[in-house]
Amino acid sequence: MLERLPELGRVLDALGDPRGLHVVGGTVRDLILGSPGTDLDLVREGSVEELAGELAERLGGRAVVHGNFGTAVVTYDGKHLDLIQARRETYPQPAALPVVEPGTIEDDLARRDFTINALAIPLPDGEALDPFDGRGDLERKTIRVLNERSFLDDPTRIFRAIRYESRLGFRMDPETERLAREAIEAGLVRRLSGPRVREELIALLGEPEAPKSILRMAELRLDQAVDPPLRAGLNAVQRLNRLRELAAEYEVDAPAWRLALETLVEPGQSVEALALTKRDQQLVEGAPADARELVDRQPGGAELADLAARHAPDAPLLALAIRDDARLRDWFERLRHVRLEVTGSDLAELGVPEGPRVGEILDELRRRKLNGELDGRAAELRAAQELIADG
Ligand code: ATP
Repeated sequence: MLERLPELGRVLDALGDPRGLHVVGGTVRDLILGSPGTDLDLVREGSVEELAGELAERLGGRAVVHGNFGTAVVTYDGKHLDLIQARRETYPQPAALPVVEPGTIEDDLARRDFTINALAIPLPDGEALDPFDGRGDLERKTIRVLNERSFLDDPTRIFRAIRYESRLGFRMDPETERLAREAIEAGLVRRLSGPRVREELIALLGEPEAPKSILRMAELRLDQAVDPPLRAGLNAVQRLNRLRELAAEYEVDAPAWRLALETLVEPGQSVEALALTKRDQQLVEGAPADARELVDRQPGGAELADLAARHAPDAPLLALAIRDDARLRDWFERLRHVRLEVTGSDLAELGVPEGPRVGEILDELRRRKLNGELDGRAAELRAAQELIADG
């Protein structure tokens, strides 16, 4: 089966003696499903640091060793390979990070999220280790936790379960779904740190099947269990589908996850808890409110341009997704590209000294241009001269 892994041949050559290593996790899952990716996850019992360095050297790449416990990433030719030291994990408290110790390959499979990810194939090739019948669940298209504490230990797995359901067209088995609902109702999701929730939301909402995941979040009430509370549901999905069409139509440069998140956030809601980058936070908080204002007030010209630019491109796109509007389409097609043809140095040549007046004149010119009153450089210069003459 391993011969179907595109990158493995080269890695095996570089390894020399591959015994003791296992291909593991999502790599095996995708291989069995017949859609192998290029990512390769390898586990071994014992330290990986030295091996990572050797592999990087032989593959002509780089090794980065992470944290204080046995994981390394080897990157080469734009590909990457995760090397993991087999570990045992115990959870001192629900939703806290686990305590990690060296373990056997069996321990390493037992710490995983779902049966379909708890598979390992020994190198150079052999029968898969499958202690939890992951293969059976792959055939049954089922997402199943390994034990009943799984979601209590790590509620991020609820997001992961939904992500796999949507991506693979699978479904949680009834017991797993019951456990997910129980963990959600017990308020465990709120105990996760903001950055952990952020990473899960970005992964979930960034996938092509995000609309399915949003409906599932609503069904399980995971949306309301997050800090800040989100509002998932049919409305959000319809809006997101529209947003995606518009983003493609206008070649808008905004990450898919952010647009999706903006359909889930109520206007006025702070998302500080998620610890996004400053710019992402401003957009996610600002776009829903500005979109509402754009839809309700329907400004035109320079006023539209100012309001649209405040949280662009997200706010005007969201506004268009809420309601189709010729003025907003005009903003995307024309206004957003409008630039003055005169500059500060033109004003200097006309005798305006450096200082705030330069900005004021340029702002006024821009306002007039956006309102369609100025067409071309000559008209802009004429208007500038009038403004200068008027003081
Ligand atoms: P993807 O295709 O999304 O990358 P993946 O299965 O490779 O899927 P990763 O997030 O890269 O997922 O994680 C690699 C492996 O680590 C998973 O297959 C899973 O076995 C394990 N894993 C990841 N996150 C968790 C978690 N929260 N709890 C337990 N095991 C996890």
